[in-house]
Amino acid sequence: MALEVRYNPLILMTLKDTLNRPLRDLRISVTDRCNFRCVYCMPREVFGPDHKFLHRDQILTFEEIARLARIFVGHGVRKIRLTGGEPLVRKDLPLLVSMLNEIPDLDLTLTTNGSLLPRQARALKDAGLKRVTVSLDSLDEQVFKAMNDVDFPVAGVLEGMDAAAAVGLTPIKVNMVVKRGLNESSILPMARFFREKGYILRFIEFMDVGHTNGWRMNDVVPAAEIIEMISAEMPLEPVAPNYPGEVAGRWRYKDGSGEIGVIASVTQAFCRDCNRARLTAEGKLFTCLFGVKGHDLRELIRSGATDEEMSQAIASIWNKRDDRYSEIRSENTIKLPKVEMSHIGG
Ligand code: SAM
Ligand code: SF4
Ligand code: SF4
Repeated sequence: MALEVRYNPLILMTLKDTLNRPLRDLRISVTDRCNFRCVYCMPREVFGPDHKFLHRDQILTFEEIARLARIFVGHGVRKIRLTGGEPLVRKDLPLLVSMLNEIPDLDLTLTTNGSLLPRQARALKDAGLKRVTVSLDSLDEQVFKAMNDVDFPVAGVLEGMDAAAAVGLTPIKVNMVVKRGLNESSILPMARFFREKGYILRFIEFMDVGHTNGWRMNDVVPAAEIIEMISAEMPLEPVAPNYPGEVAGRWRYKDGSGEIGVIASVTQAFCRDCNRARLTAEGKLFTCLFGVKGHDLRELIRSGATDEEMSQAIASIWNKRDDRYSEIRSENTIKLPKVEMSHIGG
């Protein structure tokens, strides 16, 4: 069934949260499963053989996701990022991409660990995906394997990136989570390598998402320290954001050889401009990465709500939004039972 985008000009003009922030960006997690066990995201002790992942009936179907996406676009969303878990472990993902690609004026992208890209890059591109972000935490085999905890080699991820580049899923961005004592020594080799390659490397401060990754402030390498370290060898200068609410601070090499980004959500909170909503695989809407409780849109959709009713429900949730977790992070907030990264998708 062809569904129209429900543009409601009134809502489009007025949908703002309590801090006057619009809704522009939606991250959709298509699965809570992953073929990696990154120590900062799905530690093996918690996500082991006994871990109960969502059952197939619990996760949104492609039709449900596409319907919700259109309603969100009607509220002003202009960018959708597919994520997970590992989005490429969801069967037939290119089909979902092609359904979302029918929505006009949408920037459609995906974040992946890259392991399955060599097999899927072509189908994703043909389905209408614009570009990808690939996560890689180190070029050092030992460090990377210690971080992904499934013995996956660096070469496999690089192959994924190159497969994406070859079919035009560009510009390729690379996400590197930096954790003190684990992969700091990889910062410079990664910067050198991706400057040469022409991919945009983004350093992400290790965050206290969820409650299983044993986060401590001492484990965070502040973005300012990363910039200083790189700039000492390859001088950098700041660049203006591409658009309001861009989370990565942009820096370019002074010699014109490319740019990098830093996502400093711990040391330089950017809640003031946060225009991002997140939909989990089971259809819970979170208005903050550090949310404790989501709003159940699956229940609404499966109880026969009309598009208009869904649209009103989303508007009412956004209108009440007052999240600014990173600005008020403290010893008390760190202990909250927050949703896991592998559920909400980063
Ligand atoms: N599996 C895909 C991947 O790894 O790219 C997509 C989902 S993953 C949750 C999305 C992004 O969140 C990845 O770049 C990952 O490195 C990052 N991430 C996960 N846990 C994190 C944490 N505790 N702090 C900062 N970034 C984290
Ligand atoms: Fe999987 Fe991505 Fe989490 Fe790593 S960061 S465990 S690849 S979801
Ligand atoms: Fe947005 Fe929440 Fe992150 Fe602040 S802490 S930038 S409100 S997701």
